[in-house]
Amino acid sequence: MKNMKNMKIARLFGVDLKLHWSFLGILVFVASTSLFSGETLIATGINLLFVLAVFSFIVVHEFAHVFAARYYGIETESITLMIIGGLARLERLPEEPQQEFIVALAGPVSNMVLAPLFLLGWHFTDIPVLIQFSFINSLLAIFNLAPAFPMDGGRMLRAILAARIGRKNGTIWAFRVGVTLAVCAAVAAVFIGHPMLILIAGFIGLAGYKECQEVKRTESLRGVKVADLVIVDGIVVPQTTTVAEMFRILMHSAHQTITVGDGENILSVIPRADIIERSAKGDNRTAAEMGHSIGVTLDTDLSSAINDLRLWKSILVYDDKGDFAGVLDRDAVDRWVG
Ligand SMILES: [Zn+2]
Repeated sequence: MKNMKNMKIARLFGVDLKLHWSFLGILVFVASTSLFSGETLIATGINLLFVLAVFSFIVVHEFAHVFAARYYGIETESITLMIIGGLARLERLPEEPQQEFIVALAGPVSNMVLAPLFLLGWHFTDIPVLIQFSFINSLLAIFNLAPAFPMDGGRMLRAILAARIGRKNGTIWAFRVGVTLAVCAAVAAVFIGHPMLILIAGFIGLAGYKECQEVKRTESLRGVKVADLVIVDGIVVPQTTTVAEMFRILMHSAHQTITVGDGENILSVIPRADIIERSAKGDNRTAAEMGHSIGVTLDTDLSSAINDLRLWKSILVYDDKGDFAGVLDRDAVDRWVG
């Protein structure tokens, strides 16, 4: 699915350069409006070349982020070109506010360097397109410096706020400022009749929301151990218990998990959702057939247990001697994250 949306076109300085479908949308949009307004094929081709030139400035901008991040020892997996510009996917985000500030600033600075260079080129050569290139680079710098998280200006704002009120709250406030700006831009776009700007505002709002949720999640899991969320009072059933019997037990309980034991040891675990699903299908397996024995220890970081939980919904928890200590279920983690 991901590969269908992003098409790899090149590899530069050890970074994959990819195209998002929305970028191709721009090319189609420019070509069709150009042809429909009666322009010749050659003029349409020149218009498309102009768009590609603009995107080459965006590529330079993204590489400025890439090199700034590399300076702090952070590598970049890919750069994706999309409708709102480019997106450099760093292997991890700089968490040190000062580093995040510099990495975010590097992009607009590259356009601030290009703008006067093109102006100088125009001055000496009189090639008219150079002054347009200079203007576009100035626009790119200003546009990206807007404090609309997750745009560069928004990231710089988050870095400044994070240094004072912490990463989680800094992100929330940067996101709020960004959404307010995006809504204002969208309203203005309606009044001046500029559909592209509405789309861009929507993209920014959505991207900001997604990143904000992710930061909230990782920040609230920071330092939390499996021991903090382990559920010790569980329901234990014998291996021969059927789905129908387990379903009846669950109807009288709020437990999200049933464990399966042989009278001495706990052998496996079955999530509530699986029992309800099997029961609805009229399945009549036994507890021994349904359970799995994936487990973690009490001192595991919750952030590393979360992948198993995503897959299995409930997992077993053992103490440092390898004895059964309880279960961990996705419901408890979701409640914790809020
Ligand atoms: Zn940028």
